[in-house]
Amino acid sequence: MTVTRFAPSPTGYMHIGNLRTALYSYLIAKHDDGKFILRIEDTDRERLVEGATDIIKSTLRITGLSYDEGPDVGGEHGPYVQSERKEIYMEYAKKLVELGYAYYCFCTKERLEELHAEDAVGGYDRHCRYLSPEEVQKNLEAGVPFVIRQKMPLDGVTSYVDSVFGEISMNNSELQDQILMKADGYPTYNFCHVIDDHLMGVTHVVRGSEYLTSTPKYVLLYDAFGWERPTYVHLPLLMGKNEDGSVSKLSKRHGAVSFQDLLNDGYLSEAIINYIALLGWCPKGSQTEFFTLDELKAAFTIDGVSKSPAVFDFEKLLWFNGEYIHALDDAKFTELVAPYIKLDIPSTVNKTKMLALLKTRIAKLSEIEEKMSFFISLPEYDKELFLNKKNKIAEFDTVKLVLNEAKEILAGVDKFDNDTLFSALSVLNEKLGMKTGTIMWCIRIAVSGMSATPGGATEIMEVIGKDESLKRIDIALTKL
Ligand code: GLU
Repeated sequence: MTVTRFAPSPTGYMHIGNLRTALYSYLIAKHDDGKFILRIEDTDRERLVEGATDIIKSTLRITGLSYDEGPDVGGEHGPYVQSERKEIYMEYAKKLVELGYAYYCFCTKERLEELHAEDAVGGYDRHCRYLSPEEVQKNLEAGVPFVIRQKMPLDGVTSYVDSVFGEISMNNSELQDQILMKADGYPTYNFCHVIDDHLMGVTHVVRGSEYLTSTPKYVLLYDAFGWERPTYVHLPLLMGKNEDGSVSKLSKRHGAVSFQDLLNDGYLSEAIINYIALLGWCPKGSQTEFFTLDELKAAFTIDGVSKSPAVFDFEKLLWFNGEYIHALDDAKFTELVAPYIKLDIPSTVNKTKMLALLKTRIAKLSEIEEKMSFFISLPEYDKELFLNKKNKIAEFDTVKLVLNEAKEILAGVDKFDNDTLFSALSVLNEKLGMKTGTIMWCIRIAVSGMSATPGGATEIMEVIGKDESLKRIDIALTKL
């Protein structure tokens, strides 16, 4: 069975790159009806951020990336929070010492600092690797603080095959005797993730490509224990576009890069997921770019993952988001957009109609207030707005004539809905010898105060109602 995991460190918000890792990891498992595990990697105690684990869980819940095993859902391989697994790591580290692939290191901080001062490259000189078993025993008995280091092979090459990047090889002479267990009794990431991935039965390790070149060290651990290596799937870098056209690692300066910020800014979770699925993966033979999570599960295969860096394009995301918003049914849209509306909407405004008109005119939910404000109150506008070449309106007198006639008709209409208004006003074509476009232009400017609006004149009047429509026409006539 395919088993994958998402193993974030709770160090802050949910970066969109991390979310992509979670998504790909989830999809690789679910494409094969496999298992997806959430594991919290919190052994770097200095980098912990309070509340970060909750953000991780809530992000996975909102996006629908539900995990089969994890901190709150449990499972046969728990606990799923590394700080609760300390004893396990110590046991395996000691086992590794016995096997001859690790050693106790008693070097003091001072000694190490001296070493680094002498050698700017800052490697460990392997001093304790060569302590005699008696010396080690003596130190342990005396309670001298220690770390446990990995005993790297001194020559030869370590290779593995990554599913995306191909064969990766490293000269063993370049590998440091890295720390596996720290003096505080906590393991390093380098060690504990390997132990956990093995114990939790992870078959595919899916993560960012920043781990590509450290992985030789990890496969050496698998080999030392005699465990089967997992399949590695390192994901391409995520880049952001800079103002000068160049690209660099996606970060805050490129815009909102956390899932939560994007949600707050009015992006829909489904649109974000759909968009980031395509950042580094290309569906084979697909005609569409639109995928629900279920469709992604069916379509996602590792051979569609690309190794070239993917560029996060905010405009493309915005476009995706707009498409998702426009496809919502009106009730769902009303529900989702509600938190973004702080303006008081007068009871005379037909809110249902207004939101239906606006739904197709916004690309993110946070645009709603700006787009709806003219319905609530007439903006300041210049009478020049009425003049329009295309509709052959060259003089204010034409506008005055139209508005006076329209006003009279509208005053007699009781049912202020689009169809009724439209047919009532249609008598003006013949009477004034003008095209519908000309007449409606005059009325629309008067009732909206804007040159471009969501909806035409009669739709706007349906939203704002009879009194407000007549009032706005009067205001226009005074201007003229
Ligand atoms: N805790 C690591 C991180 O957040 C996980 C890397 C991995 O998936 O192995 O970067």
